[in-house]
Amino acid sequence: MEFDLIEVIRARVDVARGDVALGIGDDAALLNVPAGQQLVACTDTLVAGVHFPVGTAPEDIGWKALAVNLSDLAAMSAQPVWALLALTLPDADAAFVECFAEGFAELARAHGVALAGGDTTQGPLAVTVTALGFVPHGLALTRGGARVGDALFVTGTLGDAAGALRVLRESGENGVELRARLDRPEPRIAAGLALRGIASACIDVSDGLLADLGHICASSKVGAEIEVDALPVSPALAASFDAKTCRDLALSGGDDYELCFTAPSAREKEIVETLARIGCGATRIGRIVAGSRVRALDASGSEIEIARAGWEHFSP
Ligand code: ADP
Ligand code: MG
Repeated sequence: MEFDLIEVIRARVDVARGDVALGIGDDAALLNVPAGQQLVACTDTLVAGVHFPVGTAPEDIGWKALAVNLSDLAAMSAQPVWALLALTLPDADAAFVECFAEGFAELARAHGVALAGGDTTQGPLAVTVTALGFVPHGLALTRGGARVGDALFVTGTLGDAAGALRVLRESGENGVELRARLDRPEPRIAAGLALRGIASACIDVSDGLLADLGHICASSKVGAEIEVDALPVSPALAASFDAKTCRDLALSGGDDYELCFTAPSAREKEIVETLARIGCGATRIGRIVAGSRVRALDASGSEIEIARAGWEHFSP
């Protein structure tokens, strides 16, 4: 049974790479890391009903399980290379696995990621992906490099995924564009690579801007000020909620998988132009200051009290 499912996955996730000396089929994979590169490794689990709504299409679960991991590689400025897939399934549902593997494969092909191995077990639906990538020695971006005076940026738009969950919870409906942001996040790989040598610190926004920027501040031993009027919000979000709700979703909503990064102020124009060419765009949303707090400021520079919603939970 398990072998058949592994074969279903292997046949669909068909990216081949010369640096996979031995892939699926032995006890472990043998992978060749080029000289001069550091191996960047991360792993993230998606649990049904916690990280995606129960009833999410299997293709979308497959996509998202890889996407959230590639997003972590993007934040380190790594080039994704390989992935491992640990799949826990309630039953040996080949149709589910086929669709799941299709969604996973779509994103794997887009980034040239080879599936080098994994594990398949029975239990409540959960997916753990380990993603591996390369970065030239010493060039990885981390959370720890932000300096007082740096400008603060974010790619793309914020709040869409949390907006999708709120729409689903309040109306039982799926706003098409917002729901796509929740189900098919686009890991900002090209942006992460372009920011190498430019950004001073970087993180991906998985738990919400305030929470994730808080991690940059803690690691870098600095504070941050966000100009809330500068927060980039999509037309779809603006059409679905009032301005204050959009602001709160952009500040606190999770699951957007944009990059939040800092860089010397003087590089703003170069950054905005470079990321516009890449297609995701980047917006300057504030600055790094002395201290340790993350503060949100209105147009007059007064601090805004933030209802710390954290990321949006949903009921199954
Ligand atoms: P073992 O019992 O030695 O761990 P498995 O039957 O779990 O062997 O795995 C056999 C091979 O199939 C291994 O190479 C493993 O990496 C691969 N594999 C198992 N499950 C998956 C999966 N979900 N995705 C990709 N490869 C898998
Ligand atoms: Mg195994």
